[in-house]
Amino acid sequence: MSDDRTVFRTCPLCEATCGLQIEIEDGAVKRIRGDQDDVFSTGFICPKGSTLKQLYEDPDRLRKPVVRQGFDVDGAPVFVEVEWDEAFAVVADKLTAVRQAYGNDAVGIYLGNPNAHNLGWNTHARAFLKAIGARSVFSASTVDQMPRHVASGYLYGNGLRMPVPDMDRSDLLVLIGTNPYVSNGSICTAPGYPDRIEAVRARGGRVVVIDPMRTRTAEAADQHLRIRPGTDAVLLAAIVHHLIATDQISLGRIGTIVDGVDQLGAAVKPFTPDAAASVTGIDAETIRVLADEIAAAPTAAVHGRIGTTTVEFGTLTTWLIDVIAIVTGNLDEPGGAMFPCSAVERVRPNRTGRPYRVGRWHSRVNGNPEVQGELPVGDLPDEILEPGDGQLKMMFTVAGNPVLSCPDSHRMDEAFASLEAMISVDIYLNETTRHADVILPPGSPLEKDHFDIAFSNLSIRNVANFSPVVFETDQPAEDDIIARLSMIVTGMGDGDPDLVHDQLVSQILANEVRTEGSPIEGCDADRLAAMVTGERGAERVLDALLRTGPYGDAFGANPDGLSVEKLRDHPHGIDLGPLASRLPAALDTETARIDLWAGPFLDELARLEARATEWGADDRLRLIGRRHLRSNNSWMHNLDVLVKGQPRCTLQVNPADATGLGLVDGGRAAIRSRVGELTVDVEVTDVVMPGVVSLPHGWGHDRAGARMTVAAANAGVNSNVLTDPTALDPVSGTSVLNGIPVEVAPA
Ligand code: SF4
Repeated sequence: MSDDRTVFRTCPLCEATCGLQIEIEDGAVKRIRGDQDDVFSTGFICPKGSTLKQLYEDPDRLRKPVVRQGFDVDGAPVFVEVEWDEAFAVVADKLTAVRQAYGNDAVGIYLGNPNAHNLGWNTHARAFLKAIGARSVFSASTVDQMPRHVASGYLYGNGLRMPVPDMDRSDLLVLIGTNPYVSNGSICTAPGYPDRIEAVRARGGRVVVIDPMRTRTAEAADQHLRIRPGTDAVLLAAIVHHLIATDQISLGRIGTIVDGVDQLGAAVKPFTPDAAASVTGIDAETIRVLADEIAAAPTAAVHGRIGTTTVEFGTLTTWLIDVIAIVTGNLDEPGGAMFPCSAVERVRPNRTGRPYRVGRWHSRVNGNPEVQGELPVGDLPDEILEPGDGQLKMMFTVAGNPVLSCPDSHRMDEAFASLEAMISVDIYLNETTRHADVILPPGSPLEKDHFDIAFSNLSIRNVANFSPVVFETDQPAEDDIIARLSMIVTGMGDGDPDLVHDQLVSQILANEVRTEGSPIEGCDADRLAAMVTGERGAERVLDALLRTGPYGDAFGANPDGLSVEKLRDHPHGIDLGPLASRLPAALDTETARIDLWAGPFLDELARLEARATEWGADDRLRLIGRRHLRSNNSWMHNLDVLVKGQPRCTLQVNPADATGLGLVDGGRAAIRSRVGELTVDVEVTDVVMPGVVSLPHGWGHDRAGARMTVAAANAGVNSNVLTDPTALDPVSGTSVLNGIPVEVAPA
């Protein structure tokens, strides 16, 4: 019987969560386009969205587990396919051997960025992390957005409570270090981001972009301010300085719940616009005018992303962005910076929380503090390579390729190669997983259910959208794999993963019936557990979360509320409305108030003042990264449709610098940092400002033993060979990936 149908689902490839319309003909994907009826994206799609077809069909994508059985004569690993039970048995043996020889502290975990987009990981991660009990947890967050979590933790008492720009109602949108015309947005789920930017201007608002590069977003803005990489905190402190000096502080509604505003003036006193001009490269009058505009706009949203977080003062920069929202009355107000309310958020009465804490433990070798339960990924090679108690001997990696995406790649590669055991959950045999003993491949995105648990917390509109499996497969999804791994680490290796799924559902319901203010407070948890629906583990956990969430059906008490079944009946999603003001109820701080100085920000401002003086006298070239519409970090480089065309892994150099350095367009350059050196193709362009060079990350697919044929044919160079693992934002442990001092010369 032919399998012809049209299905709708959410694209899981980036934070934009676009709705897709997928036409199936004879059991194969014929075409993917934007879903015009999707309640949020209304037909928007980028070139990556349609490549779910190519990803599903990619012959390099692993369909069965593989186990490494030695190396060939060239030293490349040899993998053989095995059945799932055999693969899990090898995992159990490896784990037992390492634990017996070295103890549980010898086991670590690395989590890659795609986990955030994965339903099974989001529903089951906690069970696995708790079961394994590892303190050496590393993730892509410390080469990305960790400063946002830490700033939120100190300000709002919850590292996951992140304000997003309510751009659909903003009169002034200020974008710093972000290029949503090609990234499609981050820490801001807004499908059709470019259209939304244009809508701000169409209704008479203004868009300002602050970036060292004239990005596509900058070209579309009313104003583009070129800033020296890594100096955003100085600019933002100067804006706060000017607002105070000109008596333009107006907290509005939240004024009654914010402490510490009186100390701001003294704290930012050194950061006058004149002083900031020589550091940032933006003249003092322009800074003053921008501050005046933010203060005068009926509504204003300032949003910073990767260029503001992967720098030495990433957490301070993020804090300053929120401080500007607070002192101009734009926090928690329509058109300003607002807090989404996800369909799976827990319903709790307004209550005080606990102090936000970091540093509950520290990295063994470098002594860096834990944040959000993680250690800085820049510390990972030392934790593996340096001998001593607690040295890591075994790693689990889940959907990650840290050899390409984390600092000091050569040493990261050496570290993974030295492990006694390594288990990877990944769809590819890539530059990192080639070191694994076992690779456990989940199915493709079209072979699993999807719901954006993480990004509904970052969405500029509250929506809910469930995507059921498109194609059945024998490959388990992440929830089943993680359930099996959880059972292995707790000594129940042959158990049925349904035990873990059911336990997660029971825990959610048992917790909710005990919680004051929950929609099912006081109900019989066992009776409700029997009412949970879903064929798969993650779907059942999601059903329990949705039904007990703020829009849930509360198992019948609110008949019009959400459940997985209801979302299945709405394949284009359900719109839950615009963002609404949520403070003070959404605060989890100890005082139920916002204390501007709960974190180390006074010390950080003093440190910034000292560093700014050094920056003013430092004219070394600075390396920054860049995004491309057809690239998504390292893991989508194996799809020909996305990598074909002109090579994109080039070093962009401003014409003035090229002349001074003797570089020519199309020539080759040697670029050297404190830790590494690369030879790379040169692209001379005034897109980058003088004094700055740019190289994209995620490339360098040239390691023997990886099995990503298309990526290897378009290898590029790995920018993280240049990234210094000791350079980090000390508050969040996030590596400095933007503004790296480099020397460049003709190769
Ligand atoms: S913008 Fe993101 S979510 Fe939308 S189609 Fe592209 S990759 Fe998918």
